[in-house]
Amino acid sequence: MNKTLLRALPKVDELLNHESLQSLLEAYPRETIADAIRETIDSLRADILSDKEQILDESFLAMESVMNKIKSKAIKANSYNLRRVINGTGVVIHTNVGRSCLTHSIKDHIGEISCYYSTLEFNIENGKRGSRYSHVESLLCKLTGAEAALVVNNNAAAVMLTLSTMCKDREVIVSRGQLVEIGGSFRVPEVMKQSGAHLVEVGATNKTHLRDYEAAITEETAALLKVHTSNYRILGFTQEIEASELVELSHKYDIPVIEDIGSGSFIDFSKYGLMKEPTVKEAVAAGIDVVTFSGDKMLGGPQAGIIVGKKAYVDAMKKNQLTRALRVDKMTLSALEGTLMHYLDEEKALLEIPTLRMLTMTHVETIERIERLKMAIENKGLKGLRLTLCDDYSEVGGGSLPLEKLPSRVLKVTIEGYSPNQLVDALRTLSVPVIGRIFEDEVVLDSRTLFDEELELVADLLEELLQMNE
Ligand SMILES: *Cc1c(COP(=O)(O)O)cnc(C)c1O
Repeated sequence: MNKTLLRALPKVDELLNHESLQSLLEAYPRETIADAIRETIDSLRADILSDKEQILDESFLAMESVMNKIKSKAIKANSYNLRRVINGTGVVIHTNVGRSCLTHSIKDHIGEISCYYSTLEFNIENGKRGSRYSHVESLLCKLTGAEAALVVNNNAAAVMLTLSTMCKDREVIVSRGQLVEIGGSFRVPEVMKQSGAHLVEVGATNKTHLRDYEAAITEETAALLKVHTSNYRILGFTQEIEASELVELSHKYDIPVIEDIGSGSFIDFSKYGLMKEPTVKEAVAAGIDVVTFSGDKMLGGPQAGIIVGKKAYVDAMKKNQLTRALRVDKMTLSALEGTLMHYLDEEKALLEIPTLRMLTMTHVETIERIERLKMAIENKGLKGLRLTLCDDYSEVGGGSLPLEKLPSRVLKVTIEGYSPNQLVDALRTLSVPVIGRIFEDEVVLDSRTLFDEELELVADLLEELLQMNE
Protein backbone atom coordinates (compact mmCIF):
# COMPACT_ATOMS: atom_id res chain seq x y z
CA MET A 1 0.00 0.00 0.00
CA ASN A 2 2.72 2.40 1.02
CA LYS A 3 4.68 1.85 -2.14
CA THR A 4 1.65 2.39 -4.33
CA LEU A 5 0.84 5.63 -2.58
CA LEU A 6 4.44 6.84 -2.66
CA ARG A 7 4.55 6.19 -6.37
CA ALA A 8 1.31 8.06 -6.81
CA LEU A 9 2.67 11.23 -5.17
CA PRO A 10 2.49 14.09 -7.69
CA LYS A 11 5.66 15.77 -8.96
CA VAL A 12 6.51 19.44 -8.36
CA ASP A 13 6.56 20.39 -12.06
CA GLU A 14 3.34 18.61 -12.74
CA LEU A 15 1.60 20.62 -10.01
CA LEU A 16 3.23 23.91 -10.97
CA ASN A 17 1.68 23.56 -14.41
CA HIS A 18 -1.68 22.46 -13.12
CA GLU A 19 -4.41 24.80 -14.25
CA SER A 20 -5.94 25.22 -10.79
CA LEU A 21 -2.75 26.91 -9.60
CA GLN A 22 -2.58 29.43 -12.43
CA SER A 23 -4.48 32.19 -10.63
CA LEU A 24 -2.25 31.74 -7.60
CA LEU A 25 0.80 32.03 -9.86
CA GLU A 26 -0.45 35.34 -11.12
CA ALA A 27 -0.90 36.69 -7.61
CA TYR A 28 2.24 35.42 -5.89
CA PRO A 29 5.93 34.87 -6.65
CA ARG A 30 6.50 31.54 -8.40
CA GLU A 31 9.18 30.50 -5.92
CA THR A 32 6.81 30.75 -2.93
CA ILE A 33 4.31 28.51 -4.72
CA ALA A 34 7.02 26.00 -5.64
CA ASP A 35 7.99 25.98 -1.95
CA ALA A 36 4.39 25.40 -0.91
CA ILE A 37 4.19 22.48 -3.38
CA ARG A 38 7.42 20.94 -2.08
CA GLU A 39 6.33 21.29 1.54
CA THR A 40 2.96 19.75 0.76
CA ILE A 41 4.50 16.78 -1.04
CA ASP A 42 7.02 16.31 1.78
CA SER A 43 4.32 16.28 4.40
CA LEU A 44 2.16 13.85 2.38
CA ARG A 45 5.17 11.57 2.01
CA ALA A 46 5.85 11.73 5.74
CA ASP A 47 2.20 10.87 6.44
CA ILE A 48 2.37 7.85 4.16
CA LEU A 49 5.63 6.62 5.67
CA SER A 50 4.33 7.04 9.21
CA ASP A 51 1.42 4.84 8.15
CA LYS A 52 -1.28 6.96 9.66
CA GLU A 53 -4.52 5.07 10.07
CA GLN A 54 -6.63 7.49 8.11
CA ILE A 55 -4.56 6.88 4.99
CA LEU A 56 -6.52 4.07 3.46
CA ASP A 57 -6.32 4.59 -0.24
CA GLU A 58 -5.39 6.93 -3.03
CA SER A 59 -8.28 9.27 -2.28
CA PHE A 60 -5.83 10.64 0.26
CA LEU A 61 -3.99 12.04 -2.74
CA ALA A 62 -7.11 13.41 -4.43
CA MET A 63 -6.10 16.45 -6.45
CA GLU A 64 -8.59 18.78 -4.82
CA SER A 65 -7.37 18.16 -1.29
CA VAL A 66 -3.71 18.41 -2.36
CA MET A 67 -4.45 21.70 -4.10
CA ASN A 68 -6.17 23.11 -1.05
CA LYS A 69 -3.16 22.29 1.08
CA ILE A 70 -0.86 24.01 -1.41
CA LYS A 71 -3.09 27.05 -1.65
CA SER A 72 -3.29 27.58 2.07
CA LYS A 73 0.48 27.24 2.44
CA ALA A 74 1.09 29.65 -0.43
CA ILE A 75 -1.33 32.21 1.00
CA LYS A 76 0.27 31.92 4.43
CA ALA A 77 3.76 32.35 2.95
CA ASN A 78 2.60 35.52 1.24
CA SER A 79 0.83 37.07 4.24
CA TYR A 80 2.29 39.38 6.81
CA ASN A 81 3.54 37.86 10.02
CA LEU A 82 3.24 41.14 11.86
CA ARG A 83 -0.49 41.68 11.79
CA ARG A 84 -3.24 43.56 13.50
CA VAL A 85 -5.08 41.82 16.34
CA ILE A 86 -8.09 42.75 18.44
CA ASN A 87 -7.15 43.23 22.06
CA GLY A 88 -9.98 41.92 24.18
CA THR A 89 -7.77 41.34 27.21
CA GLY A 90 -8.45 44.66 28.92
CA VAL A 91 -4.72 45.17 29.42
CA VAL A 92 -4.25 48.65 27.99
CA ILE A 93 -0.45 48.85 27.65
CA HIS A 94 -0.04 45.22 26.58
CA THR A 95 3.59 44.75 25.55
CA ASN A 96 2.84 41.54 23.63
CA VAL A 97 0.33 43.21 21.33
CA GLY A 98 2.25 46.42 20.75
CA ARG A 99 1.80 48.51 23.93
CA SER A 100 0.27 51.76 22.67
CA CYS A 101 -1.79 52.43 19.55
CA LEU A 102 -1.16 55.69 17.74
CA THR A 103 -3.86 58.18 16.89
CA HIS A 104 -5.36 57.97 13.43
CA SER A 105 -4.86 61.69 12.94
CA ILE A 106 -1.08 61.24 12.56
CA LYS A 107 -1.26 58.22 10.26
CA ASP A 108 -1.06 60.24 7.06
CA HIS A 109 1.83 62.27 8.38
CA ILE A 110 3.82 59.13 9.26
CA GLY A 111 3.03 57.74 5.81
CA GLU A 112 4.21 60.91 4.08
CA ILE A 113 7.46 61.11 6.03
CA SER A 114 8.12 57.40 5.38
CA CYS A 115 7.30 57.31 1.69
CA TYR A 116 8.90 60.62 0.65
CA TYR A 117 12.14 62.46 1.36
CA SER A 118 12.00 64.66 4.44
CA THR A 119 13.83 67.20 6.59
CA LEU A 120 15.14 64.35 8.76
CA GLU A 121 18.70 65.68 8.89
CA PHE A 122 18.32 68.68 6.65
CA ASN A 123 18.04 72.24 7.83
CA ILE A 124 15.53 73.80 5.50
CA GLU A 125 16.51 77.35 6.47
CA ASN A 126 20.16 77.26 5.51
CA GLY A 127 20.22 74.19 3.26
CA LYS A 128 22.87 72.57 5.42
CA ARG A 129 22.95 69.41 7.41
CA GLY A 130 20.54 69.35 10.34
CA SER A 131 19.99 67.08 13.31
CA ARG A 132 17.30 64.42 13.51
CA TYR A 133 17.05 65.08 17.22
CA SER A 134 16.04 68.70 16.85
CA HIS A 135 12.51 67.94 15.60
CA VAL A 136 11.07 66.99 18.96
CA GLU A 137 13.48 68.60 21.39
CA SER A 138 11.72 71.92 21.87
CA LEU A 139 8.31 70.25 22.24
CA LEU A 140 9.72 67.91 24.88
CA CYS A 141 11.28 70.84 26.72
CA LYS A 142 8.03 72.78 26.60
CA LEU A 143 6.00 69.85 27.90
CA THR A 144 8.37 68.81 30.68
CA GLY A 145 10.06 72.05 31.68
CA ALA A 146 13.48 70.54 30.96
CA GLU A 147 16.43 72.40 29.40
CA ALA A 148 17.23 69.73 26.82
CA ALA A 149 15.99 66.44 25.42
CA LEU A 150 17.12 63.48 23.36
CA VAL A 151 15.20 60.52 21.94
CA VAL A 152 16.62 57.03 21.45
CA ASN A 153 15.27 53.61 20.57
CA ASN A 154 13.60 52.72 23.89
CA ASN A 155 13.88 53.45 27.58
CA ALA A 156 16.38 50.64 28.14
CA ALA A 157 18.62 52.41 25.62
CA ALA A 158 17.95 55.75 27.31
CA VAL A 159 19.11 54.41 30.69
CA MET A 160 22.14 52.77 29.14
CA LEU A 161 23.16 55.90 27.25
CA THR A 162 22.67 58.07 30.33
CA LEU A 163 24.79 55.82 32.54
CA SER A 164 27.43 55.31 29.87
CA THR A 165 27.77 59.06 29.37
CA MET A 166 27.63 60.19 32.98
CA CYS A 167 28.92 57.26 35.02
CA LYS A 168 31.23 55.03 32.97
CA ASP A 169 33.92 53.39 35.12
CA ARG A 170 32.54 55.16 38.15
CA GLU A 171 30.00 54.35 40.84
CA VAL A 172 26.23 54.80 40.81
CA ILE A 173 24.25 54.52 44.03
CA VAL A 174 20.88 52.75 43.83
CA SER A 175 18.44 51.65 46.49
CA ARG A 176 18.22 47.86 46.80
CA GLY A 177 14.43 48.04 46.55
CA GLN A 178 14.74 49.60 43.08
CA LEU A 179 16.92 46.96 41.41
CA VAL A 180 14.01 45.82 39.31
CA GLU A 181 13.54 43.59 36.31
CA ILE A 182 11.04 44.80 33.76
CA GLY A 183 9.50 42.69 31.03
CA GLY A 184 12.00 39.87 31.27
CA SER A 185 14.91 41.62 29.64
CA PHE A 186 15.43 44.95 31.34
CA ARG A 187 17.27 44.45 34.60
CA VAL A 188 18.76 47.46 36.28
CA PRO A 189 21.97 45.71 37.41
CA GLU A 190 22.55 44.23 33.94
CA VAL A 191 21.90 47.46 32.07
CA MET A 192 24.30 49.14 34.43
CA LYS A 193 26.98 46.55 33.77
CA GLN A 194 26.57 47.03 30.01
CA SER A 195 26.95 50.78 30.41
CA GLY A 196 30.25 50.39 32.25
CA ALA A 197 28.98 51.98 35.47
CA HIS A 198 29.56 50.25 38.80
CA LEU A 199 26.56 49.55 40.96
CA VAL A 200 26.57 50.42 44.62
CA GLU A 201 23.48 49.04 46.34
CA VAL A 202 22.25 50.71 49.46
CA GLY A 203 19.51 50.06 52.01
CA ALA A 204 17.37 46.98 52.45
CA THR A 205 14.73 45.60 50.10
CA ASN A 206 11.88 47.30 51.90
CA LYS A 207 13.57 50.38 53.33
CA THR A 208 16.25 52.78 52.26
CA HIS A 209 17.08 55.90 54.26
CA LEU A 210 18.74 59.07 53.08
CA ARG A 211 21.65 58.31 55.41
CA ASP A 212 22.22 55.03 53.47
CA TYR A 213 22.83 57.02 50.30
CA GLU A 214 25.01 59.53 52.10
CA ALA A 215 27.18 56.84 53.69
CA ALA A 216 27.86 55.30 50.26
CA ILE A 217 29.04 58.52 48.60
CA THR A 218 32.77 58.47 47.81
CA GLU A 219 35.23 60.17 45.44
CA GLU A 220 34.15 57.58 42.87
CA THR A 221 30.43 58.39 42.98
CA ALA A 222 29.23 59.63 39.59
CA ALA A 223 25.49 59.83 40.32
CA LEU A 224 22.56 58.83 42.46
CA LEU A 225 20.03 56.77 40.52
CA LYS A 226 16.35 56.49 41.30
CA VAL A 227 14.41 53.80 39.46
CA HIS A 228 10.66 53.68 39.32
CA THR A 229 9.64 50.21 40.51
CA SER A 230 7.11 50.12 37.69
CA ASN A 231 5.80 46.61 37.76
CA TYR A 232 5.74 45.81 41.44
CA ARG A 233 5.22 47.42 44.79
CA ILE A 234 6.74 46.73 48.13
CA LEU A 235 3.87 47.18 50.54
CA GLY A 236 3.74 47.49 54.29
CA PHE A 237 6.79 48.60 56.26
CA THR A 238 8.56 50.49 53.51
CA GLN A 239 10.46 53.64 52.77
CA GLU A 240 11.66 55.19 49.56
CA ILE A 241 13.40 58.52 49.39
CA GLU A 242 11.53 61.33 47.65
CA ALA A 243 13.14 62.83 44.58
CA SER A 244 13.47 66.21 46.29
CA GLU A 245 15.43 64.72 49.20
CA LEU A 246 17.83 62.98 46.84
CA VAL A 247 18.30 66.25 44.99
CA GLU A 248 19.13 68.05 48.22
CA LEU A 249 21.70 65.42 49.12
CA SER A 250 23.20 65.51 45.63
CA HIS A 251 23.71 69.28 45.85
CA LYS A 252 25.61 68.89 49.10
CA TYR A 253 28.13 66.61 47.34
CA ASP A 254 27.86 68.17 43.88
CA ILE A 255 26.79 64.99 42.09
CA PRO A 256 23.84 64.57 39.70
CA VAL A 257 20.63 62.60 40.26
CA ILE A 258 19.26 60.43 37.46
CA GLU A 259 15.73 59.05 37.49
CA ASP A 260 14.41 56.22 35.35
CA ILE A 261 10.76 57.09 35.70
CA GLY A 262 9.58 54.18 33.50
CA SER A 263 6.18 55.08 32.12
CA GLY A 264 6.73 58.79 32.15
CA SER A 265 3.34 60.37 31.95
CA PHE A 266 2.77 64.02 31.13
CA ILE A 267 -0.65 64.01 32.74
CA ASP A 268 -1.46 63.69 36.42
CA PHE A 269 -3.83 60.74 36.22
CA SER A 270 -4.91 61.15 39.83
CA LYS A 271 -7.16 63.91 38.49
CA TYR A 272 -9.00 61.19 36.61
CA GLY A 273 -9.37 58.74 39.46
CA LEU A 274 -6.17 56.75 39.01
CA MET A 275 -3.37 56.46 41.55
CA LYS A 276 -0.91 59.27 41.92
CA GLU A 277 2.25 58.71 39.89
CA PRO A 278 4.96 61.33 39.51
CA THR A 279 4.79 63.08 36.15
CA VAL A 280 7.90 63.87 34.14
CA LYS A 281 7.35 67.56 34.77
CA GLU A 282 7.26 67.00 38.53
CA ALA A 283 10.53 65.04 38.40
CA VAL A 284 12.18 67.83 36.43
CA ALA A 285 10.75 70.47 38.77
CA ALA A 286 12.05 68.53 41.78
CA GLY A 287 15.53 69.14 40.38
CA ILE A 288 16.35 65.69 38.96
CA ASP A 289 19.21 66.26 36.52
CA VAL A 290 18.27 63.60 33.97
CA VAL A 291 14.93 61.80 33.63
CA THR A 292 14.39 58.85 31.26
CA PHE A 293 11.10 57.23 30.20
CA SER A 294 9.38 55.17 27.49
CA GLY A 295 7.48 56.65 24.56
CA ASP A 296 4.95 53.83 24.30
CA LYS A 297 3.75 53.33 27.86
CA MET A 298 1.57 55.93 29.63
CA LEU A 299 2.64 58.51 27.05
CA GLY A 300 0.77 56.56 24.37
CA GLY A 301 3.23 57.17 21.54
CA PRO A 302 5.62 55.03 19.49
CA GLN A 303 8.37 52.88 20.97
CA ALA A 304 11.08 55.29 22.05
CA GLY A 305 13.29 56.17 24.97
CA ILE A 306 13.10 59.81 25.98
CA ILE A 307 15.79 61.57 27.94
CA VAL A 308 15.13 65.04 29.35
CA GLY A 309 17.26 67.10 31.68
CA LYS A 310 20.10 69.57 32.13
CA LYS A 311 21.64 70.76 28.90
CA ALA A 312 25.24 69.91 29.78
CA TYR A 313 24.40 66.26 30.36
CA VAL A 314 22.16 65.90 27.32
CA ASP A 315 24.79 67.60 25.11
CA ALA A 316 27.37 65.08 26.33
CA MET A 317 24.99 62.25 25.43
CA LYS A 318 24.52 63.62 21.93
CA LYS A 319 28.30 63.30 21.44
CA ASN A 320 28.49 59.76 22.83
CA GLN A 321 29.24 57.22 20.06
CA LEU A 322 26.58 54.97 21.54
CA THR A 323 23.87 57.46 20.48
CA ARG A 324 24.53 56.54 16.86
CA ALA A 325 23.77 52.89 17.62
CA LEU A 326 20.63 53.72 19.57
CA ARG A 327 19.20 56.32 17.24
CA VAL A 328 15.54 56.44 16.24
CA ASP A 329 14.35 56.40 12.68
CA LYS A 330 12.13 58.85 10.86
CA MET A 331 8.94 56.83 11.34
CA THR A 332 9.38 56.92 15.09
CA LEU A 333 10.20 60.60 15.06
CA SER A 334 7.19 61.51 12.98
CA ALA A 335 4.93 59.43 15.23
CA LEU A 336 6.45 60.91 18.36
CA GLU A 337 6.20 64.48 17.17
CA GLY A 338 2.55 63.90 16.24
CA THR A 339 1.82 62.36 19.63
CA LEU A 340 3.57 65.14 21.54
CA MET A 341 1.64 67.80 19.64
CA HIS A 342 -1.58 66.43 21.12
CA TYR A 343 -0.26 67.13 24.60
CA LEU A 344 -0.25 70.86 23.96
CA ASP A 345 -3.95 70.58 24.79
CA GLU A 346 -4.51 68.09 27.62
CA GLU A 347 -8.20 67.62 26.85
CA LYS A 348 -7.42 66.81 23.26
CA ALA A 349 -4.69 64.40 24.30
CA LEU A 350 -7.11 62.54 26.57
CA LEU A 351 -9.64 62.23 23.77
CA GLU A 352 -7.35 61.40 20.90
CA ILE A 353 -4.50 59.29 22.25
CA PRO A 354 -5.94 55.77 22.54
CA THR A 355 -3.86 54.80 25.59
CA LEU A 356 -5.05 57.86 27.51
CA ARG A 357 -8.60 57.41 26.31
CA MET A 358 -8.66 53.81 27.53
CA LEU A 359 -6.98 54.55 30.84
CA THR A 360 -9.44 57.29 31.74
CA MET A 361 -12.55 55.56 30.41
CA THR A 362 -15.25 55.39 33.09
CA HIS A 363 -17.14 52.27 34.08
CA VAL A 364 -20.28 53.75 32.55
CA GLU A 365 -18.51 54.19 29.22
CA THR A 366 -17.31 50.58 29.27
CA ILE A 367 -20.91 49.44 29.91
CA GLU A 368 -22.24 51.49 27.04
CA ARG A 369 -19.64 50.15 24.62
CA ILE A 370 -19.93 46.48 25.54
CA GLU A 371 -23.70 46.68 25.17
CA ARG A 372 -23.18 47.93 21.64
CA LEU A 373 -20.88 44.98 20.97
CA LYS A 374 -23.46 42.55 22.36
CA MET A 375 -26.11 44.12 20.16
CA ALA A 376 -23.91 43.95 17.05
CA ILE A 377 -23.35 40.23 17.63
CA GLU A 378 -27.00 39.55 18.43
CA ASN A 379 -28.07 41.28 15.24
CA LYS A 380 -26.30 38.54 13.31
CA GLY A 381 -28.72 35.94 14.72
CA LEU A 382 -25.94 33.39 15.15
CA LYS A 383 -26.78 29.94 16.50
CA GLY A 384 -24.89 28.07 19.22
CA LEU A 385 -23.60 31.21 20.84
CA ARG A 386 -24.32 32.56 24.31
CA LEU A 387 -23.47 36.08 25.44
CA THR A 388 -23.61 37.47 28.97
CA LEU A 389 -22.35 40.69 30.46
CA CYS A 390 -20.60 41.04 33.78
CA ASP A 391 -18.27 43.32 35.69
CA ASP A 392 -14.53 42.74 35.90
CA TYR A 393 -11.37 44.78 36.08
CA SER A 394 -9.01 45.88 33.33
CA GLU A 395 -5.34 46.53 33.94
CA VAL A 396 -3.01 49.34 32.97
CA GLY A 397 -0.24 46.89 31.90
CA GLY A 398 3.23 47.64 30.59
CA GLY A 399 4.50 47.42 34.12
CA SER A 400 2.64 50.61 34.96
CA LEU A 401 0.44 51.06 38.03
CA PRO A 402 0.47 47.36 38.96
CA LEU A 403 -2.03 47.79 41.76
CA GLU A 404 -4.50 49.83 39.79
CA LYS A 405 -7.72 47.99 39.01
CA LEU A 406 -9.89 49.70 36.42
CA PRO A 407 -13.56 48.71 36.78
CA SER A 408 -14.81 47.52 33.42
CA ARG A 409 -17.69 45.66 31.81
CA VAL A 410 -16.88 42.49 29.89
CA LEU A 411 -18.72 40.19 27.51
CA LYS A 412 -18.65 36.48 28.32
CA VAL A 413 -18.75 34.42 25.15
CA THR A 414 -19.57 30.72 25.08
CA ILE A 415 -19.89 28.69 21.94
CA GLU A 416 -21.36 25.22 21.78
CA GLY A 417 -18.74 22.51 21.47
CA TYR A 418 -15.86 24.66 22.72
CA SER A 419 -14.27 24.57 26.14
CA PRO A 420 -13.07 28.00 27.34
CA ASN A 421 -9.48 27.11 26.45
CA GLN A 422 -10.47 25.83 23.02
CA LEU A 423 -12.43 29.00 22.38
CA VAL A 424 -9.55 31.31 23.34
CA ASP A 425 -7.37 29.34 20.91
CA ALA A 426 -9.97 29.39 18.13
CA LEU A 427 -10.44 33.16 18.42
CA ARG A 428 -6.75 33.59 17.68
CA THR A 429 -7.05 31.72 14.36
CA LEU A 430 -9.59 34.12 12.82
CA SER A 431 -8.75 36.35 9.87
CA VAL A 432 -8.17 39.14 12.37
CA PRO A 433 -7.08 37.32 15.53
CA VAL A 434 -9.14 38.15 18.61
CA ILE A 435 -7.26 37.95 21.91
CA GLY A 436 -9.56 37.24 24.82
CA ARG A 437 -8.94 36.15 28.36
CA ILE A 438 -10.46 33.69 30.77
CA PHE A 439 -12.47 35.01 33.71
CA GLU A 440 -14.59 32.89 36.01
CA ASP A 441 -13.88 29.93 33.75
CA GLU A 442 -15.29 31.61 30.66
CA VAL A 443 -13.87 33.55 27.73
CA VAL A 444 -14.37 37.27 28.06
CA LEU A 445 -13.76 40.29 25.86
CA ASP A 446 -13.07 43.45 27.82
CA SER A 447 -14.78 46.60 26.66
CA ARG A 448 -11.93 48.91 27.60
CA THR A 449 -9.38 47.83 24.99
CA LEU A 450 -11.77 47.43 22.06
CA PHE A 451 -12.04 50.35 19.68
CA ASP A 452 -15.49 51.60 18.72
CA GLU A 453 -14.76 50.84 15.10
CA GLU A 454 -13.90 47.24 16.01
CA LEU A 455 -17.30 46.28 17.42
CA GLU A 456 -18.85 45.34 14.06
CA LEU A 457 -15.64 43.58 13.11
CA VAL A 458 -15.73 41.42 16.25
CA ALA A 459 -19.31 40.45 15.37
CA ASP A 460 -18.18 39.52 11.84
CA LEU A 461 -15.31 37.47 13.23
CA LEU A 462 -17.58 35.51 15.57
CA GLU A 463 -19.74 34.79 12.56
CA GLU A 464 -16.61 33.60 10.72
CA LEU A 465 -15.84 31.25 13.60
CA LEU A 466 -19.33 29.75 13.63
CA GLN A 467 -19.24 29.30 9.85
CA MET A 468 -15.95 27.43 10.12
CA ASN A 469 -17.80 24.88 12.24
CA GLU A 470 -20.51 24.22 9.71
C1 LIG B 1 9.40 49.80 31.04
C2 LIG B 1 10.55 50.26 31.80
C3 LIG B 1 11.84 50.21 31.26
C4 LIG B 1 12.08 49.68 29.87
O1 LIG B 1 11.55 50.55 28.94
P1 LIG B 1 11.49 50.16 27.38
O2 LIG B 1 10.95 51.37 26.73
O3 LIG B 1 10.60 48.97 27.30
O4 LIG B 1 12.87 49.84 26.98
C5 LIG B 1 12.89 50.66 32.02
N1 LIG B 1 12.69 51.13 33.26
C6 LIG B 1 11.47 51.19 33.83
C7 LIG B 1 11.35 51.73 35.22
C8 LIG B 1 10.36 50.78 33.12
O5 LIG B 1 9.15 50.84 33.66
